[in-house]
Order: sequence, then C-alpha cells, then structure tokens
Amino acid sequence: MAATVKSSGGTSKPPAAAQPLADEPSAIASNINYHAHYSPHFSPFKFEPEQAYYATAESVRDRLVQQWNETYLHFHKVDPKQTYYLSMEYLQGRALTNAIGNLNVQNAYADALNKLGHQLEEIVEQEKDAALGNGGLGRLASCFLDSMATLNLPAWGYGLRYRYGLFKQRITKEGQEEVAEDWLEKFSPWEVVRHDVVFPVRFFGQVEVNPDGSRKWEGGEVLQALAYDVPIPGYKTKNTISLRLWEAKASAEDFNLFQFNDGQYESAAQLHSRAQQICAVLYPGDATEDGKLLRLKQQFFLCSASLQDIISRFKGRKQGNGSLEWSEFPSKVAVQLNDTHPTLAIPELMRLLMDVEGIGWDEAWDVTSRTIAYTNHTVLPEALEKWSQPVMWKLLPRHMEIIEEIDKRFIALIRSTRTDLQTKIYNMCILDNYPQKPVVRMANLCVVSAHTVNGVAQLHSDILKSELFADYVSIWPKKFQNKTNGITPRRWLRFCSPELSNIITKWLKTDQWVSNLDLLTGLRKFADNAGFQDEWASAKMANKQRLAQYIEHVTGVRIDPNSLFDIQVKRIHEYKRQLLNILGAIYRYKKLKEMSSEERKNTTPRTIMIGGKAFATYTNAKRIVKLVNDVGAVVNSDPEVNSHLKVVFVPNYNVSVAEMLIPGSELSQHISTAGMEASGTSNMKFALNGCLIIGTLDGANVEIREEIGEENFFLFGATADEVPKLRKDRENGLFKPDPRFEEAKQFIRSGVFGSYDYNPLLDSLEGNSGYGRGDYFLVGHDFPSYMDAQARVDEAYKDRRRWLKMSILSTAGSGKFSSDRTIAQYAKEIWNISECRVP
Ligand SMILES: *Cc1c(COP(=O)(O)O)cnc(C)c1O
Repeated sequence: MAATVKSSGGTSKPPAAAQPLADEPSAIASNINYHAHYSPHFSPFKFEPEQAYYATAESVRDRLVQQWNETYLHFHKVDPKQTYYLSMEYLQGRALTNAIGNLNVQNAYADALNKLGHQLEEIVEQEKDAALGNGGLGRLASCFLDSMATLNLPAWGYGLRYRYGLFKQRITKEGQEEVAEDWLEKFSPWEVVRHDVVFPVRFFGQVEVNPDGSRKWEGGEVLQALAYDVPIPGYKTKNTISLRLWEAKASAEDFNLFQFNDGQYESAAQLHSRAQQICAVLYPGDATEDGKLLRLKQQFFLCSASLQDIISRFKGRKQGNGSLEWSEFPSKVAVQLNDTHPTLAIPELMRLLMDVEGIGWDEAWDVTSRTIAYTNHTVLPEALEKWSQPVMWKLLPRHMEIIEEIDKRFIALIRSTRTDLQTKIYNMCILDNYPQKPVVRMANLCVVSAHTVNGVAQLHSDILKSELFADYVSIWPKKFQNKTNGITPRRWLRFCSPELSNIITKWLKTDQWVSNLDLLTGLRKFADNAGFQDEWASAKMANKQRLAQYIEHVTGVRIDPNSLFDIQVKRIHEYKRQLLNILGAIYRYKKLKEMSSEERKNTTPRTIMIGGKAFATYTNAKRIVKLVNDVGAVVNSDPEVNSHLKVVFVPNYNVSVAEMLIPGSELSQHISTAGMEASGTSNMKFALNGCLIIGTLDGANVEIREEIGEENFFLFGATADEVPKLRKDRENGLFKPDPRFEEAKQFIRSGVFGSYDYNPLLDSLEGNSGYGRGDYFLVGHDFPSYMDAQARVDEAYKDRRRWLKMSILSTAGSGKFSSDRTIAQYAKEIWNISECRVP
C-alpha cells in the first residue's frame, strides 16, 4: 500500500504544529503527519508502512516525553527513596503496541492510521525488536520495568546500549547460522540521547598512594559513558520511568590528529575503536583472553557509569538542603543486581565512597552493604561467574585491593566468631587462590556484601538455602529471601491476545484484571459454562489461525489449526531438554508409521513447534537445532503421517515471535531436569494464555501447578531431591533404559533423518559417566514417564469440554504470576520504597 503523506490539503500544505496530548483520531493523524513532514528520516512524499511507523512512533514519543518529564520532576520534588535495577540484559521487544496500550490510546491510533490509509497491525510489524538480552533473565528485567512504572514506583533501569543485540538466527541446511541483529540500522524512535549525562570510566592503570595514606586509581585508559534513555510508560498512569542505556565513547582529544595526518589511521583512532567494542554486542565470545577481558570491561562500564549517575543524583538533591550525610545514602538508594553480572558495583561503590568522596572503610562498607541487594538466577555450578584474578588485577587494580580487603575481613569474622565454620572457609571466601588460575567468585562476593540475596522461585530459593549458600545461612539467616518471578499481564495477555482479553473483560464485567491479575480467579466459576467455553474456544482458534499463517509465512510449512498446538520455545540448552521433546516426537512418528490408517485416525493430531537460539559456541545445542529441523523435514513431507503430525522449528525466537506463538498455544513444554531451571517465566506466559503445561516439578512449575490445580497440569519426571541419587545409581551401572527410549535413538542412528552425524549428541545420553556422557540431564530416566504424560495429553484433548475447562482454569489460576505482585514484594521486602504517583 503506497500511501503518500496526506496532510490537510495534500503535501503542499504541511500540517499544523503537533499537539502531543490530543486524543481524537483526527488530531493524532495530524500529529503523525506532522512528524512525517518535520522529523524526516526518508526522502519526502513517501508514506509507506515504514515511514508511517517512524512518524507514528514519534507522535507517541511526544506524548511520553511529556509524562516522562512530569514524572522525574515529581520524583525530584518528593525526593523519595529510589530503586536502581542493574542488568546486563533487557529483552524489551517492540515498544509501539505496548506504549499506546499503556497510554490507553489504542483505538484512537488505529482510527488515526486508518485515516492515513494504514492498518495499525501492519504498522507495528515494522518495528524491530530491541533484543538487548539473551533469554528469561533479560525479559524479566523488562517485565519488571513495566511493573515498576505501573505501580508508580520511583525506579530506574540501567543497562548497556548494545549496537547489535543478540544475533539473529537463520536456519540453513547446516542448522543454525548467526547473523548480526541490526536493531539500530535506521534508528530507534524510543531512545533519547542525553548529551549532558556523561561520566568517565577508567580501565587498567595503577593505584597511587596519597601522602595521607588514601589511595587513588590513576592512568590507564578513560572512556566516556553517554546516557540514552528509553521511556517506560506505566499502564493507565502518568508515571513514565527510564531505562538508561550507556554507550561508550572516546572524546575528541583521544583522536590523534598528528598520527592521522601522518597516515596512521588505525592507531590515531585506537581509543575510539576500543570504545566501540564495549557496546558492540551482548556476550562477545569468551573463549579467548581478549574476549573475557571485553566482557569484564562491559560489566564494569555498566556498574561505574550507573553508580556515578546515582551518586551525582544523590548529591544534587542534597545541595539544596544542607550537608551531605553518606549514612543517608541507603535511605535514598536501593541497587538491585540482576544476577552476578553487575557484581563490580560492590567494589566500585566502595571505591567511589572512599577514594572520591573521602569516607573511611567502615562507613563505606556500611553504606554499600545497606544499598546493594542481589538476585541469584542459577544453581548450575558451571554458570556461576568466576573471573581470573590476574585479569582483574590488570583491568581493575583498585577494585582488586578492595575485594581482597572484603575477603580478608570476612575470613577474620568467621575465624573470630564461628569455630564451627573453620573448615568451610575455603568454600565461602571470595578469592579462590588454589586452582591453577586463581579466580574471584562473584556470587560469593555478592552474598558477603549484599543485605539481601533472593532466589526467583520457591524451590530455587530453598535449594539456594539448603545447598549453594547453606553455609552463609547460618551466619545471616535473614539475608535470604524468595521472590517468585512474574510477567507483565499487559504485554503477555492484554496486548498479545486482544481476543481472549475481551472475553475475560466481558465475563468478569471489568478490565481491572489487567492491573490486578488476581481478579482472574473470577473466571473459575465459568469454567464449566458452555457459553463461556465456546467463546474461549473461538478466541483460541482465532489465535491458532493467526499463528498458522505466521508459521507458513516464515517456514513454508502448512499446519492444521485443528491439530493440538504443542510448543516449546526457550533458549536451546541441554538442561531444558529439547532433546527429550524431539525424541518423544521421533517415537510418535515411528509409531504412526507402524499403524494402519484406521488406527491413525484415532490418534490426536499434533503440531509440535520448537524454537530458540543456541549460543554460538554451544555445539550440542546447535546439534539439537539441526536435529529438530531434520526431523521436521522428514515428517512434514511424509504423506502417511502428515495429517497426524507436524514438527516445525520456529526460527529466530524473540519477544515478538513469543507474542505470536503463546496466544495460539494449547500445550507447552517446561521439561527441564528438576532442580536446574531457577524459575522459568515462559511457563507463566503460556499458563496465563490458557495453555496447558506438561512439565517437571522444577522452578516456578511447582507454584503454577499449585495455583491452577494438579489436575490441570501434566506432571512427569524425577523430582529435584531424587536427581543426585539417580545420577549416582547411573554411575554405578544401575540404570535400565526403557525400550521406547532405545527405539527412538536407534531410529535416528538408522539414518531416517539424514546423514548428519548425530552420534556425538546421542553419545551424551550413553555411558554411565564422563564429560558429555552419562546422560547428566536424565533424559533417559524421564523418557518413559514423559511419554506416559504425553499419552494423558492425547486423551485429554479428545474431550473438548474437559480440555477447555482445564484451559480456563490455567488462566484463572495465573494471578500470582503477575510481575506486579513480584515487584510489590521487592519494593516492600527488599527495597523499602513506596509509590510516588504523579498527580
Ligand atoms: C519469556 C521469554 C524467555 C524465557 O523463557 P523460559 O522458557 O522461561 O526460559 C526467553 N526468551 C523470550 C523471547 C521470552 O519472551
């Protein structure tokens, strides 16, 4: 649709100045037109969907800027305690639908775009996802920001402005291919650069001792951190907070004009190119020393810039009314570390307080530990961050001094007060000097320094207290908390499934559930109501049809909306066990092949969709991607089983793809080895959308099952406390594989799915022990109970009314999993902050 800019009277007469707060469609249309004319990013007179998207987004941004300024003016006036959420990742996804939804101007915008010859649905598709994250941890940070804004909390998010997000996944004959995701290719209308917010960040150099004995970090290289702010509007409130993303820059003085004129172009701009490296990509490969150094630089860059900003805000407030009392800092500032990636905030705050602000160790330590809280996201030992001490000494010599001192004092504390813990000191302390390459254990630094440590689901928090951090619990029993994760009901139901949302609103006779998700329990009384069930079914069907169109569009595979839509989307990882899923699909395929066509008719037709990115250097994960694609290619072109089974790999899983898949799902798989998934959040998104879960007792599955009722959850597999014994038994040769499991593996080995060498992948499931062998993730052990649970799924799906009831009860029981609930708990129980609503 090639529309031209339609201002009142055509392009010759430009529209009047924008009125950003107008609500009438005609005024909004004129605002959009205004931007098409006066914020040009393209040649004039062209108004195709792309141009319309940018002009629309800019008109929405005007509205946000107004609220945003009011919000921070209000915070400044009231001067409440504020929370600063530090995260290396944010998976924001698209902003337009969310913004106009939260501003409650969705219909007006749809009408306005109609007047301009466009469809809102088509315009929002133009936006690229801001994919500054990897998976659940990054999406959690984004859901939290939405809830902080919606709950009118005085809060900020801090992160890095990666030039390229996580890679874009392409599927070729070879499997996954990674290409750079150029989300800033044109520009993002959702960020505002703050040229006045710049802080220096140093790397390398040395520590100098002043005549008075105080210490100072000098020399090395200094880069500038420049702030880019992204507005985060709350739902139906004026409050609009900031996600502040830092970009690394070198200053003009660092450009060596002499060298440049001498033809030494590269060395002339050396610091500029190093600055670019810092924010180039999320998680640069860390196989090399340089890669590791770069990651550490990124982490420090985030911490240092954010803390300087926080301190300057604290000092700015104080200038008006009296003296600067550092002891008051923790009553104005709460800093939350999203996993250990921003751990360097701890020594950096100590350094800034002591070396720059001039206060002593004891006071600095008191301030730091009362300010900082830490969220743990994993119990996998290999995922606990450790940094090489020599690398740290080189990059951050002053911070290493501080970390050594923290460690020394901690050890002294145990020695003097806890004779019972003497033998534990080696495991509890921060510096591990004994391996070949001495390391700093970041999680230990966090636990020793933070006032609160939390896990992200009850089971996970229990495991932290009984295993990973057990020794610390006896010293600081009150330090450890649970904060079960949540998801924002705006993005994950209200906006991604308007059909289902409208039905919920109609039957509950209110749309208050969007910000008070517990109201969904009101749906329970309609779970058996045939009229309600039919409306529910038709909304789900509409979503399934939309999804089917999408799948055909991106993969060319035609899927039947009347089949059971079975989805597993998440990062590809052995512990998440996509391999269990695909082995189950393979077994299903083999059995279908063996059936007569009459027998086949009695089976429940299924479409199995699997999606997710494998980390570029994670070979086994990439083999799993390849296997799913190979199985799909064979199954989907087999006319015998074609109408009973399809297997689809959904490429390039990201937030926007999730928003398409989840509303159209009926069954989703959350089948990690028990004890390994800290929480999971997509389980919550699926359940909220009336999708049934097949899953293990892991992470938040446990609580979801409690909330929605065990009869509405397809449970299977070993429990977390059984896992260690099962591994031990296997080491002792006691594991007896189920014949179905052997049959599925043998089917792959027979070459049915092509000539690719799957032996290295299959070998990980064989043997009784050894690296990459011995089935560490218990796929073989759980396979039979998984297949039995799948058989229960097939049976349940045949009873349409029963299935609909279970689906309704899933949604009805999802209230607890709103990130509004999670954030309200953080605010009260960790941050000690309260609402600061813009009048
Ligand atoms: C929610 C979400 C995740 C997390 O999924 P899990 O199944 O909880 O691991 C990952 N990626 C995207 C794009 C998401 O939206």
